Amino acid sequence: MYRGLKSTFCQSKKLSLTTLLTGLVTLVILLTSSILLIGSYESKKQSLMKTTLHLNYINADRMSRTMDSLFVSMRSSLKYNSARLSDIEAMAPEQVNESLDQMRSSSNFFNSITMVEASGFIRNVSPASLGTTGKHITSKNSQVALALRKPYISSPYLTANTKRLIVFLSQPVVSSAGTYLGMLSGTIYLQENNILSEIFDNGQEDDSGAYYYIVDSEGHLVYHPDKQRIGQDVSSNAVVQQLLNKQSGEQPVRNLKGIDLLAGYSSVPANGWGIVVVSPVSQIQHELVGHIRILIWYCLGPFIILLLGVILLARKFARPFVYLADVVSRMGTEKIELQEAKRYWSREAYLLTDGVSLALDNIQQQTEQLTQEAATDVLTGLMNRRSLEHTISQWIASGVPFSLVMLDVDNFKLVNDTHGHHLGDEVLKHVVRMIVTSLRPDDVCYRYGGEEFVILLARTLPAEAFSAAERIRKAVERSKAPIPEQLTVSQGIAHYPSHASELEGLLGKADQALYLAKSKGRNRTVITE
Ligand code: GH3
Ligand code: MG
Ligand code: MG
Repeated sequence: MYRGLKSTFCQSKKLSLTTLLTGLVTLVILLTSSILLIGSYESKKQSLMKTTLHLNYINADRMSRTMDSLFVSMRSSLKYNSARLSDIEAMAPEQVNESLDQMRSSSNFFNSITMVEASGFIRNVSPASLGTTGKHITSKNSQVALALRKPYISSPYLTANTKRLIVFLSQPVVSSAGTYLGMLSGTIYLQENNILSEIFDNGQEDDSGAYYYIVDSEGHLVYHPDKQRIGQDVSSNAVVQQLLNKQSGEQPVRNLKGIDLLAGYSSVPANGWGIVVVSPVSQIQHELVGHIRILIWYCLGPFIILLLGVILLARKFARPFVYLADVVSRMGTEKIELQEAKRYWSREAYLLTDGVSLALDNIQQQTEQLTQEAATDVLTGLMNRRSLEHTISQWIASGVPFSLVMLDVDNFKLVNDTHGHHLGDEVLKHVVRMIVTSLRPDDVCYRYGGEEFVILLARTLPAEAFSAAERIRKAVERSKAPIPEQLTVSQGIAHYPSHASELEGLLGKADQALYLAKSKGRNRTVITE
């Protein structure tokens, strides 16, 4: 009882084999898929970053070549026109203005062109509408360029008069006699339409989120999609540092705003400037999420099919073990008919089913044998007193009328005393043979104890039982016993239900009759009064 309760309690806490297998397989599939997804994500990320970096470098390089040839052209245009102005002192101001206008409109390189005399006096300007003609240069850049008497490119700076952010290229003007006459300078308005914005697109971000910016040889922004930032000093940026060292290449970088970017950069030989093409890393992550989403969509169907298939297989594998566990758990509480061991896929399942089947057969055979042994008497092979009581109870319960003959060997103690216990046993067996051969087919003899026997005669009245008992008594009397002395038995008869209505009473009555037979001189049969 206690064991039963305990095992039920334990069972409720245990997982079933099917659940365990299914869970394990599901876990393995989920983990494998996750590992594959993470692997795919990481490898795709690496490859995308590498590709993007390289693409940005290629773009920066292409733009740098374009800018290089642009500046070479700008420089030669300035050089050619400054040579034409070598005799400027002999030229009328209108003539010079016309020449500058022509230079500006023919190439479109510069937003404005200025002729500055060696004294710093602004002699001519195209377009004239700027209104600086006749004034003196004030900016430090212009003064440096004028004093330097060499070709010069300025840093971006804000002009005093027009408040424009500009850079200029200048070329010295020298007379045919070699006198320094001043400089011819071409200006680019950085925050307005200019030659750079015309050539390098309008700087809008494309689909990939990439954009570019240009820095001058001192790390100032000459071009940036955010026009407000033009002129800003960005020399602390890691990529700009590389450009200041005239290096070209590609690398991930964090910009001054703390945004992670993939940068390709290339320095321009003609002016020492640098071009940087960058893509935000966040854009790549965006693409990666899309990639993973597509991957999951493609894998979901096969994944579910695989999972279902594996779950079905797991159940199939578990089935023989589940069946055996069920059989074994019912063992001892009921009679079990085991199915024939099928050809299971798994060798262990087959062996186990076979083994359990064999063990079950053995146990059942042994149980039957033990039950049989518990019911019979070893010496005579007759059924014992327990069986007798069992049968009588059954007959009484089902209302079967019967007679009971109680038989006792006369003076048996004397047999033992005279001939020994062993011969006594032989005598007992002999008596049993005599009884059994004298009985009718339906009558049953039991060994009641010692040298006492009980014969049950179903649906037999006391008179009939008396005849049967007398047959036995006479058979014993006449038989040739294994001892020289005469062998006799005495018998008492009781009837159910006329003499007693229950087991104890009935046996008591038969015993009384037997006692009477003994007291009347033995070797006789007496029916209960
Ligand atoms: P009575 O005529 O009054 O029945 O006298 P009795 O000697 O037969 O009766 P008693 O009860 O005094 O003796 C029975 C003897 O049977 C005593 C016991 O040793 C013997 N006995 C009981 N069972 C066995 C057995 O299995 N084998 C042998 N050899 N003797 C047994
Ligand atoms: Mg006796
Ligand atoms: Mg006796």
